[in-house]
Amino acid sequence: MPDLEIKCLHCKQVFVFTEKEQEVFYRNNWHQPQYCPKCRSKKLMKSENAPKKFEIICDHCGKKDLVPFQPKVGREVLCRNCHEALRAKTRYL
Ligand SMILES: [Zn+2]
Ligand SMILES: [Zn+2]
Repeated sequence: MPDLEIKCLHCKQVFVFTEKEQEVFYRNNWHQPQYCPKCRSKKLMKSENAPKKFEIICDHCGKKDLVPFQPKVGREVLCRNCHEALRAKTRYL
């Protein structure tokens, strides 16, 4: 994949979405960035005031989800759907 040039939706500056970054994004199933790294870090800083959410990748179905707690390393993390499904299952055991 060649480097991509993307125009930031916020500051309208063109930035380079490098091949390396693309790989990371592709591997994580993320959409390509719409904001330049500068605006992205600004956005991140802003969101620190919001309730903390942690992005997880479900061990069960591989989907991304946001959870209100810091997932522990080495412990199984589940998305909301799988968590609910698991709860419903154990309820009827
Ligand atoms: Zn920008
Ligand atoms: Zn899941």
